Amino acid sequence: MKIAKRVQNLQHSDIRRWTRIVEEVGGINLAQGICQVEPRPEVRQAVEDAHAAMLTGLEKVGFNTYTHYSGIDDLREAIAAKAREYNHLTADPDPYNGTIVVTNGATGAFNCLFESIIEDDDEVLIFEPFYGYHLKSLALRGGTPRFIPLRGSSYEFDDSDLRAQLTERTKAILVNTPANPCGKVFSREDLSVIARFCQEHDLLAITDEVYEYMLYDGAEHVSLATLPGMAERTVTVTSFSKTLAITGWRLGYAIAPRELANKMALVNEFSYACAPSPLQHGIVNAIRNHRQFLTLRDMYQAKRDLLVNTLEQVGFQVTSPRGSYYIMADYTRLGFSDDVAAVEGLIRGVGVGAVPGSAFFSPGKGKNLIRFCFAFNDTGLHDACARLRRFRA
Ligand code: GLN
Repeated sequence: MKIAKRVQNLQHSDIRRWTRIVEEVGGINLAQGICQVEPRPEVRQAVEDAHAAMLTGLEKVGFNTYTHYSGIDDLREAIAAKAREYNHLTADPDPYNGTIVVTNGATGAFNCLFESIIEDDDEVLIFEPFYGYHLKSLALRGGTPRFIPLRGSSYEFDDSDLRAQLTERTKAILVNTPANPCGKVFSREDLSVIARFCQEHDLLAITDEVYEYMLYDGAEHVSLATLPGMAERTVTVTSFSKTLAITGWRLGYAIAPRELANKMALVNEFSYACAPSPLQHGIVNAIRNHRQFLTLRDMYQAKRDLLVNTLEQVGFQVTSPRGSYYIMADYTRLGFSDDVAAVEGLIRGVGVGAVPGSAFFSPGKGKNLIRFCFAFNDTGLHDACARLRRFRA
């Protein structure tokens, strides 16, 4: 059988591969960002609402059956209100000619987006360290990434770093803020540099804002599309996977310029038909009450502090993330030969999973780092920390 060239080298993602290995030893999985936090009231409510929608669907069309390809009206309207009130972003929930597409997770949004914009060898600028799914989604549609390395412990860059990667094939720049895996929260100044660059070189801006509620030490989340002149050239992607700890529901959305939103919605139709119907109904109320998500930052900051302090005690060198729910830790003082050996050592030694740093960098880089996820319930996180301390002893 002849397998298409673009998928020949596909392998299980590094992030998920380690999940399986941790599960084999019955360990605590701080590798994949599954989001195993304690259930909050709004999450229980969403589960009940989804359940109710499935029961309604036994009598009524549109609950267990297909929805409109850009999502149900109630959800698009709730998203428009949340985008206006939280992100200060204007979005039009019209089903056929609007700017919101409900997708199968943020991953589904990226697939629809790249399918809609990438031709031949188009290039997309991506900050490094990166989230591997962005690269895979791009590569599967024939695009090529060009990396902009973030510098130092505060992950800086400037206009010259962007210009250094610009070619005549550059189509877009992708900004993940708050960032997976490094926890950088792009400041308004950072985003202004990117906005100016996009306008000067006529580039599309793409954001991944799935950790928009996980912010620490007073960090502020700014959506790039709200900067002057950027709404018409920005695609804002986010999801409720992390916000509601429902990573398996596969619900995300994109807000895009009208014409592009329309094409993305059609790609969504022909790829997936629609996002899961009862689950769309399930999250409407939670999004209508989006102000409740503002308390997520306190919950996560306590978890971050616990894991950062523990890792430092154990001998890792850590930069405390200002957003998202991952920690990049330098293990070199602990004396492993490389990042894979460090992760294996932790799993086999004390049953705590992490992801080798090289999963988030171009070949040869990131080998001094491993990534931990702290989106875990307090009991599990305390257990993981006790195991890490034992590791040192
Ligand atoms: N976003 C999560 C992570 O970085 C999960 C990735 C996945 O399994 N799709 O770990």
